Amino acid sequence: MDHLCSDHFIAHAQHTVQHTIESYDLITQDDKVVVGLSGGKDSQVLLHILVALGYKPDALLIDEGIKGYREHTIEPSKRLCASLGVSLQIISYEYDHGSTLDNALKKKCLRPCSICGPWRRQSLNRHAKEYTKLAVGHNLDDECQAIVMNVLSGHQELLKRHGPINMSAKHTGLTPRIKPLYFLSERQIRLYAYLTHLHIYPGDCPYAPLSLRGRIRDWINEYEHTHPGTKKNIIDWFLDRRDRISLSPSHSIRSCLQCGEPSSQNICKSCKAKQTLGSHCS
Ligand code: SF4
Repeated sequence: MDHLCSDHFIAHAQHTVQHTIESYDLITQDDKVVVGLSGGKDSQVLLHILVALGYKPDALLIDEGIKGYREHTIEPSKRLCASLGVSLQIISYEYDHGSTLDNALKKKCLRPCSICGPWRRQSLNRHAKEYTKLAVGHNLDDECQAIVMNVLSGHQELLKRHGPINMSAKHTGLTPRIKPLYFLSERQIRLYAYLTHLHIYPGDCPYAPLSLRGRIRDWINEYEHTHPGTKKNIIDWFLDRRDRISLSPSHSIRSCLQCGEPSSQNICKSCKAKQTLGSHCS
């Protein structure tokens, strides 16, 4: 795929996504799809490809309130949506959770991604309720990292969330998440963005170096370099076993006792983070 000319590479990437959508029944004719847009390369490429394939998604952007970063990705998102004729809704953490991420992190006891992840998940779920599918820009590299992280930390139940469609999302209150970019690598997505002239902000979230995911990513990339095919092997290994992963009753989805949103625990992680914000850690 990487040895194709520009036009054929673009067509092949789009074909790969269409094939993923059809193989896993990700989008049917009756579906109303919203794309979780971050403004980064993955979600911009996802939106671009879905529109190119004839789908008519809306877009939803969550503004975490990360100064010096998020504002650089909001403008390109607005421009892309305007050029593709896609309706864009922007929701901030301040609106949904009462604080920007930057302000929340003034409390030193909170780790950036451990609060940001649950808040974003909850905001996306909350504002995607009127849709039948929530399309996210996770690519092959993201999935490999998530699978390895969950295996290493013994969170077998979380593996159930992975795959081209989130199989545990059939429960009331959750719009099923789909990952049409599942079989495209980060490198291929970067190339697609370049060849289609998408405006991608080159910077990363300033909190990203603190995450475990960053270290796992480097480790997998290094291993892929010396053992080509590693990423594909990880995905194949997972997809082979995914249907056999069972959930214990303790991991069933229920309603959070505080906010009422779907949660695997009595109090969801998003509300727990808010509780910590209200506590006395300095
Ligand atoms: Fe949020 Fe962490 Fe991602 Fe930054 S790297 S946007 S803090 S989840």
